[in-house]
Amino acid sequence: MGLNVIMMGPPGAGKGTQATRFARERGLLKISTGDILREAIKEQSAVGSAARALMDRGGLVDDATMIAIVCERLLRPDAHAGFVLDGFPRTVGQARALDRIMEERDNGPLIVVDVVVPEEELVRRLAIRRICSACGTNADPFGASAVCTKCGGAMVQRTDDNSAVVLERLKVYQRATRPVLEYYRERPTFRVVNGAQAPQRVAQEMDTLIDDAAAAGVAMKAGAERTL
Ligand SMILES: [Zn+2]
Repeated sequence: MGLNVIMMGPPGAGKGTQATRFARERGLLKISTGDILREAIKEQSAVGSAARALMDRGGLVDDATMIAIVCERLLRPDAHAGFVLDGFPRTVGQARALDRIMEERDNGPLIVVDVVVPEEELVRRLAIRRICSACGTNADPFGASAVCTKCGGAMVQRTDDNSAVVLERLKVYQRATRPVLEYYRERPTFRVVNGAQAPQRVAQEMDTLIDDAAAAGVAMKAGAERTL
């Protein structure tokens, strides 16, 4: 049965790093919407070409196109063991579509992880965040390396990361994702992870909660089948 995880969390919560780690450790497909969008465009699939046309006109990729791209990706064989989704769903419409895809796949429950970090801590983290001046890689917020671990370039502070900009970005995130979180919150497979800890602690807590949610999801499905 597949282990299917959605990672939610504001910018600066460390969700991307944890998503990558968890997928690697469990042998799951890591799907970030930015990556699969680029992939679809490169492969010139029908949805990829539609997305490309939209972006060329300066528009954002709409819900239906994003859903089609994610759906197509999740139904491929390499997603069979499960996946870790980062950046999707961003709207309730996308969340509903994902539920339909999950039903069609019929391969394990959908686990939703919300990585929560207090706003002051996010502002602090984002304000000190540095990126590589050569390749744009984000610095590990807990690392102190003066050079990029990928290419050796010099690390510089992001110019747009002053606290007013950061607060605005958090507000935009919260406004957009609150309905999605509400959509999932009451499910037995929804878990909140405390992201305001050292990365190893976050990892431990996340692993325990995901395994626990997976068991709850399986029990829920077995219960539903018994009542049929
Ligand atoms: Zn670099």
